[in-house]
Amino acid sequence: MMKTISPGQTIGIIGGGQLGRMMALAAKEAGFKIAVLDPAMESPCGQIADIQIVAPYNDQSALEELADVSDVITYEFENIDYEGLKRLAEYAYLPQGAELVRITQNRITEKAEIRQAGVPVANYIVATSIVELKACIAEVGFPCIVKTAYGGYDGKGQVKLESHADLMLAAPLFDYGACVAEAYVPFVKEISVIVQRNGNGETYCLPVGENIHKDHILHETIVPARVSEAILTQATEAAEQIADHLQLIGTLAVEMFVLKDDSIVINELAPRPHNSGHYSIEGSTISQFHQHVRAICGWPLRKPVLHQPTVMVNVLGEHVVPLSNAISKYPDWSIHLYGKEEAKTKRKMGHVTILTNDLNQTLQEIEHSGIWSE
Ligand code: ADP
Ligand code: MG
Repeated sequence: MMKTISPGQTIGIIGGGQLGRMMALAAKEAGFKIAVLDPAMESPCGQIADIQIVAPYNDQSALEELADVSDVITYEFENIDYEGLKRLAEYAYLPQGAELVRITQNRITEKAEIRQAGVPVANYIVATSIVELKACIAEVGFPCIVKTAYGGYDGKGQVKLESHADLMLAAPLFDYGACVAEAYVPFVKEISVIVQRNGNGETYCLPVGENIHKDHILHETIVPARVSEAILTQATEAAEQIADHLQLIGTLAVEMFVLKDDSIVINELAPRPHNSGHYSIEGSTISQFHQHVRAICGWPLRKPVLHQPTVMVNVLGEHVVPLSNAISKYPDWSIHLYGKEEAKTKRKMGHVTILTNDLNQTLQEIEHSGIWSE
């Protein structure tokens, strides 16, 4: 049965980055208190939390301390020690469960589950060594992408192989354990769907976003995605099918490729709010963070409806100063900065959201602002 968590009670968040911060901001509006576990003092979420526990994510006594002060626990990233999370679930209320983390923190189990849900993924094989990779690479062919099963993000932990001659480029990846090799998908667009579900099975997807990457890091999300109605329907149905299969509680971000023939292939999953859903704070009748809080607190969910076409642009370290200098010129831009101290190059520092009735003009305005030019 779904348990209801009420205003005044405390939500514990494992991880104090920007996703935790935006979850916390949404929760605080409704009067929840926030406890956060993060190794850094004054993390983006720590700065606004009621209680900060400063310790490594997998520190068992710190997790117990978090459980002691929290009425419900959630997390903002999937690379948590699964065994530790499973133990936590025995003495704390973790409505999302530990299974979702086990499945999505490993590309091998993740892809297998997506297939079991009846949704397509790129043809792939699993290899535990470069010798094994050589032996079975013919099953996927070239070009292909080899990815570490664990721990990759923003294009890290993966290499593209054009031919047999490139095989040794993948050798270093096996230092991090097993890998998957998947067929290169000649996509025309990348899109993502954020699907959210509560313990009663109530399920909603956010409007589909179109994602534009630069150097493997998300640069822009454009909503609605500029794809056919048929793709929008397929994408939403696929996300719901995966969510049902996993008996999701909380949030699942589903990254997809759109092919020339108007079909989709699932790329990867994230069991948490996602960068491509940040637009929903201003763009939708409910944001991914508010909906996440509702889902884990056993509240009814709201149907997300897009107010207007919306663009979200990421602000990396090198964009912070030019953005700050330009604020006076762009009253329609919603500025989000995550409170990170050091604006390192390529580090995600914030984002900008723009609602528009003229998408092309807004995309040009972003480009011409000079903030995101190389
Ligand atoms: P990450 O965890 O780094 O986001 P992804 O699996 O999403 O890893 O890969 C990062 C990016 O690399 C994708 O957004 C896509 O642009 C490209 N990519 C990944 N897998 C494939 C593939 N099979 N075919 C074509 N491009 C891919
Ligand atoms: Mg990705």
